[in-house]
Amino acid sequence: VDVHTQEQRSRNMSAIKGKNTKPELRVRSALHAMGYRFRLHRKNLPGKPDIVLAKYRLVLFVHGCFWHSHDCRWGRVVPATRPEFWAVKRAGNVARDLVKQEALQAQGWKVATIWECQTKDGEVLNSALRAVLP
Ligand SMILES: [Zn+2]
Repeated sequence: VDVHTQEQRSRNMSAIKGKNTKPELRVRSALHAMGYRFRLHRKNLPGKPDIVLAKYRLVLFVHGCFWHSHDCRWGRVVPATRPEFWAVKRAGNVARDLVKQEALQAQGWKVATIWECQTKDGEVLNSALRAVLP
């Protein structure tokens, strides 16, 4: 049984899946600079991918390292308070990410993740994007 109130749930969701976050904006402007055209948050696709490059049948998710347990120093942070709570929450995010990814791949989409830590530096971001873009 889901004991969350509607308000709590929407607050949690916006924290987990913040739209137009700073890392996302950085990725979008880098893509623009590289001359790529894309759509945002296509609701008709599984998981509402952050960035959709329909021409290449490629979707990009821009993930926060902490929330999605990236294998980097921010992703491995263990909060001092309620560590079990956060571990369960983050494991749930990772599991949901995988489900979305598989649903998209089943529809013939390529799926790539750009991590928040890759957006902090312009050079790093550009090479991360070049690695996944055609
Ligand atoms: Zn990271």
